[in-house]
Amino acid sequence: MESRSKKSVVIVGAGIIGLCTAHYALKKGHTVTIVERGNPEHDMASLGNAGMVVPSHFVPLAAPGMVSYGLRTMWNPESPFYVRPRLDRDLIAWGLKFMRSATAEHVARSAPILRDLNMLSRACYVELARDFGNSFGLVQRGLLMLTRTSHAFEDEKRAALQAHALGIPADIVTPDEAARIDPGLAMNINGAVFFPNDCHLSPADLVHKLTREVQAQGATIQWNTEVTSWEANKAGAMDRVKTTSGFIEADEFVVAGGVWTPQIARQLSARLPMQAGKGYSLTVPNLPKQPRVCSILVEDRVAVTPMGNTVRFGGTMEITGLDEQINHRRVLGITKSVTRYFPEYTPNIFDGISPWCGLRPCTPDGLPYIGRLIGHKNVSVAAGHAMMGLSLAPVTGLLMSQVLSDEVPAVDLTLVAPDRFNNRTITHH
Ligand SMILES: Cc1cc2nc3c(=O)[nH]c(=O)nc-3n(C[C@H](O)[C@H](O)[C@H](O)COP(=O)(O)OP(=O)(O)OC[C@H]3O[C@@H](n4cnc5c(N)ncnc54)[C@H](O)[C@@H]3O)c2cc1C
Repeated sequence: MESRSKKSVVIVGAGIIGLCTAHYALKKGHTVTIVERGNPEHDMASLGNAGMVVPSHFVPLAAPGMVSYGLRTMWNPESPFYVRPRLDRDLIAWGLKFMRSATAEHVARSAPILRDLNMLSRACYVELARDFGNSFGLVQRGLLMLTRTSHAFEDEKRAALQAHALGIPADIVTPDEAARIDPGLAMNINGAVFFPNDCHLSPADLVHKLTREVQAQGATIQWNTEVTSWEANKAGAMDRVKTTSGFIEADEFVVAGGVWTPQIARQLSARLPMQAGKGYSLTVPNLPKQPRVCSILVEDRVAVTPMGNTVRFGGTMEITGLDEQINHRRVLGITKSVTRYFPEYTPNIFDGISPWCGLRPCTPDGLPYIGRLIGHKNVSVAAGHAMMGLSLAPVTGLLMSQVLSDEVPAVDLTLVAPDRFNNRTITHH
């Protein structure tokens, strides 16, 4: 396809990744249409998440210890990680790839790119907050990794040293020092690691602001419109997508469909292994005591984020397919852990609070898919960010805008190439 500087771009999905891609593509002067199957009020992972921007998260989900952790906790109905065993070809293939990726070498290879992506994204957030009058509540006060046991504290101390080696600031702190960092709420802990560069924000306010902004900048959003198939021209380039409201033509297409991305791309013969990692959150308003900084309850893998006059508690990674049912036993696991770490919070703070659930798009190696598909030069993928989708959304949008403009991306995209598992399969056969 001929390279043109200003192009028409169709983005599939109005989640945080699609919206950020639209924002940065518009800044480059492209014409943008977002196709979203939901209505303007539809729910999605991008809304109820914990809102953390996390340069501290340089270890991908596929890391040593995760497989044995999953097997150990499988029989505990309140555990924060669960894989429902199913005789499903995609799940088995994904699981094998996950196991192959969960090595120290993979973590060492992935950590620098996750650091670079997260740091650049954080800088984008500071810029967006400035440009949007911080209407999405960006708070730059850091994140506390709270531990209750000496074993977990030792693990976190080791992670802090790894962070230092990568140039990421991380302070090992005593319970008294943690209390000085966050005097808002008493903590029942053994020690903590403080990551001063992490931030938090209100994801729903961000999504709504970006939705309005991209439209004000000239993007069209076609709500209630599902992409169902693709049509190539004689030269083999895609020139239109078929949707439930008819065909839409464009020079470039970006699939940002969250956990549904493999379904959307299947017809393109692109294999994008992905499993849904279901998580829950509970948002409690008007608590008499509120934390000032966000935290992760390390042993129980629960995220705690102050958001305006509410506190959001999020957690659980259930690999149970494209299933959005709420498992109340696991929600109970989250609420119990909150009361263990924060003695001023009693179980009744959750009375009458409805749990929310969302599906994280999880790749087998814990790295997102960002970039063009090899087989279809004008189709790109921006998806698979698992538990870092909000954090990495602006940098993903920025990188996609560079790809669409045929510029050299600010971060080398080799490790996040969407076709990386196709290549591996081809070499094996
Ligand atoms: C409990 C929980 C806590 C989390 N906490 C954090 C956090 O603190 N920090 C962080 O960085 N991340 C966090 N995440 C992860 C984050 O929420 C996700 O990674 C992110 O929202 C994914 O965004 P997305 O745009 O890829 O997908 P989505 O938000 O799922 O959006 C995809 C969109 O594509 C649309 N779509 C799908 N198929 C089609 C089609 N065929 N045609 C048209 N439209 C289509 C869908 O309707 C949807 O609107 C958390 C997730 C959960 C569940």
